Parts: sequence; C-alpha cells; structure tokens
Amino acid sequence: MNLIPVIGLETHIELSTNTKMFCGCSARSEGALPNTNVCPICTGHPGTLPVPNAAAIRFSVLLGLALNGTITEHSKFDRKHYFYPDLPKAYQISQFDLPVMRDGELFIDVPSEGTVRIGIERMHLEEDSAKNIHGSDGKTYVDFNRSSIPLCEIVTKPDFRTSAQAKAYVQELRLLVRMLGISSGDMEHGHLRCDVNVSLREVDDTGLPIGPLNPKTEIKNINSFRAIERAVDYEISRQTALWHAGTPPMVTTTRGWNDDTQTTDEQRTKEDSADYRYFPEPDIPPLDLRNLIIDLRDRLPELPRAKRARFIDEYGFKPDAAKQLVDDADLANFAEATISELRADISSKNPQSTADLGKLVSNWILTKLANILSTEGKTVASSRITPERFATLLARIIDGTLTPQKALEVLALMEQEGVSVDDAAKELGAASLTDSSAIDAIVLDVITNHPSEVTRYHAGEEKLFAFLLGQIMKAAKGNANPSQATEALKTALTKKS
Ligand code: ZN
Ligand code: MN
Repeated sequence: MNLIPVIGLETHIELSTNTKMFCGCSARSEGALPNTNVCPICTGHPGTLPVPNAAAIRFSVLLGLALNGTITEHSKFDRKHYFYPDLPKAYQISQFDLPVMRDGELFIDVPSEGTVRIGIERMHLEEDSAKNIHGSDGKTYVDFNRSSIPLCEIVTKPDFRTSAQAKAYVQELRLLVRMLGISSGDMEHGHLRCDVNVSLREVDDTGLPIGPLNPKTEIKNINSFRAIERAVDYEISRQTALWHAGTPPMVTTTRGWNDDTQTTDEQRTKEDSADYRYFPEPDIPPLDLRNLIIDLRDRLPELPRAKRARFIDEYGFKPDAAKQLVDDADLANFAEATISELRADISSKNPQSTADLGKLVSNWILTKLANILSTEGKTVASSRITPERFATLLARIIDGTLTPQKALEVLALMEQEGVSVDDAAKELGAASLTDSSAIDAIVLDVITNHPSEVTRYHAGEEKLFAFLLGQIMKAAKGNANPSQATEALKTALTKKS
C-alpha cells in the first residue's frame, strides 16, 4: 500500500500593536498581574461596543500582500460561537467568508529538498481568547489580559508532504512577520502558535490518489520548531499503523502534542464549521481596504527570500551564509554596512572578486566575530565593534598588513576595549613587519639554521619551500607580511644556489 502524508498548517500570529483588537487596553501586558489590563469590552460585558484597531488592520493587509495573496477589498467581521470559560462573550469576533486575504503563497527552502511552494488558503483577523491557568489547587483560573489581543490566522493548503517542510514553513513565516515588524513571532511566548493537520492518502504506483481524502487529525499545543517536526512524524507513523491494520481514521479528531511523552493524545472530536453558527458581526461596519492596499503595496519592505537572493548575487555570500545573515536583522545590517565600507576601503591594487570578498566577510562575521561576541556575552547590536572598524580590519588582512592569526587577536581586543584597529594592533605589538631588512634577517636566520632542508630544496624537493616559509612566519610571530616573506625567501634561496 502506498500512502502519502497530506499536511496543512493553521498558524496564529499575535500582532505587536499597542492596544487590543477592539478596545484601548494595552496589548503588551506580558508579565503583568492577571486581569490588570481589562475593561468591559475585552471582558465581554453586555451592551459594550467593539471598535476595530486600525494598526491591526494595517498589519494584516501588509502580511496579506507579503504572502502575495488577493486582499479582499470589502472585508468584514463575523461572530464564531463556542462556549468556554476563556471566551467571555461566548463568541469570538473573527472572519468567515470575507477574510482579509485569500490565495497567497510562501516559498520555502527545505534542507535536502530544495524550494517548495506552499499555497495559503486564507488569512484573517480575529481576537485572542483569555488564558486559562490550571492551579495546583485543582482549580482553573482565567486571566483576561490576553483576551482580545489581535491575531492573524493563516491557513495553508494541504501542500506539505514532510515534517521538514512544515518546520521550514513556520521558520520562514516567523522571519517574514519579524521583517515586516508586525509581530515578534516568538513561539516560546505564544506569539506564534500552530496547529498541524495530518492525514494519509492512498496513491497508486504513479502517485495518483485512490479513493477520497480521509478525515484529518488536528494536532494542537505545538510550541517549538522541534515539536512541529516530531509531532508530524509521530502522527504519520501512528496513522500508517492504523492503515496497515485496516482501520484508518474515519472521523476528524483533535489531538494534543505531549512534549513529555513525545506522543499525541486524543482530546476531542472536532466541531464542524456549522457548529460555530457564524454570522456577520452587527456591531462593526464592513471594512473598506482599497486605500490600504494601494498605500501598503508601495511600502512593502524587502522580503526574506528576495534579501537572501540579493545577498548571494550582490555580495557573493554562499546560500548558507546568506540564510544565517538574513535570519538575524542585526547581522544582516552589519554585513551590508561592512561590505560597503570594505569596498570603499580596499584599493584597486588589491582587486577581490565578489565571491572572495563575500567568503571573507561572511566567514569573519559568522565564525570569528560570532565567537568573540559569545565569549564576551554580547550580540552584534551591543558590540563595540562598528562595521567601519570591522571593515578596516578586513582591509588590513587583504593588503597583508595583518595576518589572519594576528587579526583575530586584534578583533578580540577591539571588542574588549572598544578601540580602533590601529590602537589594538599597537597594544598587541602586532604591527606587521613590513621593514624588509627585519624580514631579510629572519629569512637568513632560518636558512642558516636549516642547512639540510635548503640542500634538499635545491635538489628538487619543492615542497620544502612551504616548510621554510612556515619557519619564517613562526620566527616573526605571525607579524611578517606573507607575500613579502615569500619574496624574500625566494630571493635568498636563489642567491644561495
Ligand atoms: Zn479592554
Ligand atoms: Mn483562530
């Protein structure tokens, strides 16, 4: 039996607006005492009137455009009914048939699979529920600080086939909302929450489906990237076993991911959308998004995928390096500033190909600078090393004034003392030996002390040149300009013979 996984994702993104979706209460009350950011509106008192948050609407349109979808010109809110202690009105203000966006897409790069297009079914605005807190006394408490914080819910098409794709999608979505500046996207704080739908479909040998799509299982409560991958893999193997036993899942169910046992547990059979009795929210007039679409389309910032492509093209970074840099806005800005300074710094006498420069810059940022910063407990944002000074350091490596080994010590001191390249180099006595008589003296010394290697070199063992050069660099404690030392050694060896 051939079975393929059919996977779809529903993601809730908490928008980083100042106030809640329909009232003036602060939407940034994390860490505040429970029920201190509440009012009659977000606690669902009868007779109160919700007023939609303009910033939240703006953010949702921005996200819809970034997902390359169709924005609904005349959108509206609907009531979604269900009864639960975290929902004081007994309905959630959400969107049903006219969501902010339909038919979007997100391209993701999946390790060892390449680029995959994920279709986005819809994206709508809604309000968050309150938070139930299960006390150690066996009672459940409700904190309404979270009640009515604005959310964007993004529903994909069932386009995923592997757990790696699902994980890559959520990572790309998080990066996207961060770059748009509309959400922190932090999963650990619940600012990005996802539910995963998994079912299996039987296909023939050519990959064509046999029979109907089976009811799906929805997995809730996934709170890390690793959990997405594990929950999907677990669910695929659980359902595969059911299929092989001749008992494939026949009803739609909801299961919760259990991080302790690394399994999913059945929670309930799922409501149909008819059970929610959706109807238009009568207290909020329909939204006219036409002006926002025009306004925001021109202001869309550079998106992650475009930025990675530009970093590879324009700066010569390798795809992996471009990904690492673009994943962190501070690192990306630092890299761009460094490259532009460096291009101005290095003269035409040291021409560098884009690829060479890209390799040097990404290597020094992602490994060497990153190591120093982590040792010092710093980030690139709190670092004392500016892109200008960093570029100067790299220029000194390119022109041979500093050996890479010395440059590393100089860089560490620049961070520790907040000094310039020259001041750090002076303090370390790392001024490069460019005085030719000093280098000549060391060369002579090395030749005199290694008579047999010199004889063997002249007899044709050319690889001994590298050995002799190594001895010179060692004697100069890494301060000799490598190309100057090479020339000096060549000259000295020619004289000898
Ligand atoms: Zn309120
Ligand atoms: Mn929702």
